[in-house]
Amino acid sequence: RAKADGRDTFRFFEPVMDERLRARRELELDLRKALALRQFELHFQPQMNLSTDRLVGCEALIRWRHPTRGMVSPAEFIPLAEETGLIVPIGEWVVRTACREAVLWPESLSVAVNLSPAQFKSRKLVEVVASALSSSGLAPRRLELEITEGVLLQENEANLATLHALRDLGLRISMDDFGTGYSSLNYLRSFPFDKIKIDRSFVADISTKPDCVAIIRAIASLGLSFGMTTVAEGVETADQMRRIRDEGCTDVQGYLISRPVPAPDILRLLDRQGAAAHVLQPASEALR
Ligand code: C2E
Ligand code: MG
Ligand code: MG
Ligand code: MG
Repeated sequence: RAKADGRDTFRFFEPVMDERLRARRELELDLRKALALRQFELHFQPQMNLSTDRLVGCEALIRWRHPTRGMVSPAEFIPLAEETGLIVPIGEWVVRTACREAVLWPESLSVAVNLSPAQFKSRKLVEVVASALSSSGLAPRRLELEITEGVLLQENEANLATLHALRDLGLRISMDDFGTGYSSLNYLRSFPFDKIKIDRSFVADISTKPDCVAIIRAIASLGLSFGMTTVAEGVETADQMRRIRDEGCTDVQGYLISRPVPAPDILRLLDRQGAAAHVLQPASEALR
């Protein structure tokens, strides 16, 4: 009887699974063609230093302009790109494009590129990054690579060696989405990160939940003792920014400063950047 129930359940779900698999396969086929068809774009989201109120860098965020689906979110296709290995050529395009754009910005501005765990499996990663730097002419210290805990979780020794080799190129390494993984503190001991990005889930609740304030305060002080920059991600309100400043984070990134925008808008934001942050605010509003 149990077996029969199981089969009924299976039959009931089968069409749904089929549909999902079909949609996934279709997305994968489209993804395989997207690079050649030049459907990817990079948007850039500025980061602001809290002691100077000036922009210090931008994070490059990939966008996929699909011919029929419109803009597809990276949250939707990056995991698929990871599974299929397509992230390797896509990631190479991202780092080369990001370096080529950033070289047009003032020297005080850096560019951050996200790396996913699968990119570390490709032995070419260090070579590709080195080549992106030399062919663009971007000073290595202006490039930042963001990794998540997943990178340190998988193939620990090999990935650590790759991280060291990347850092030896003269660039900087950030830990992204800090605080959401299992043993974040241990990772800080295993590799000398230059920057911690505090996950936006903590920032989202900073105005209402005292435990989030405590966590952000602890991370900011950790950053101070380790000599790391601490960036709060996902800052959307002036109240959040005030509290983050009070807790001692060094930098902020979020919709309050600006949404991710196409490269030309970054230059416009910089043009309008005054000495004070409030000058930036109307500029970013205008860009939405
Ligand atoms: P992430 O690296 O943590 O990037 C931050 C995400 O938060 C971005 O989403 C950004 O648009 C969003 N964000 C920034 N400020 C705010 C805010 O104030 N409020 C809210 N609600 N969200 C904010 P996005 O662009 O959709 O990217 C999602 C994730 O996809 C990224 O998370 C990153 O893990 C991945 N990703 C994006 N571009 C790339 C890429 O070129 N390569 C790889 N490997 N992964 C990428
Ligand atoms: Mg990131
Ligand atoms: Mg993040
Ligand atoms: Mg994330």
